[in-house]
Amino acid sequence: MHEMGVAQNILDIAVAAAQKEGAHKITRINLIAGELRGVVPMQLSFCFGIVAKDTIASGAYLNIEEMPVTAHCENCSSDFSVEDYQYVCPKCGSTKIQLTGGTELRIKDIEIE
Ligand SMILES: [Zn+2]
Repeated sequence: MHEMGVAQNILDIAVAAAQKEGAHKITRINLIAGELRGVVPMQLSFCFGIVAKDTIASGAYLNIEEMPVTAHCENCSSDFSVEDYQYVCPKCGSTKIQLTGGTELRIKDIEIE
């Protein structure tokens, strides 16, 4: 399950950041997950609960904000969001597009005590 590796990564980053701030507990983690990362929020929360056990992030709430896939058309320069994996410009029909969003996976911020 790829969520387990993702959860471990998030935990490592969050714990390192919290310790730098001198925190003794992480209460919430706000995560940005691009649609293309294929993260299933429920599974990720579940895996996070497992890896976070016995760490300062134990019991922390994982808030996952999903980002849509966006693209830029190189032909007519319009920006649009990609739906249902249709990588075609809705304005001019060109397939010469560049993805501008949807692949990110990062921690937006964390709440500590
Ligand atoms: Zn276009």
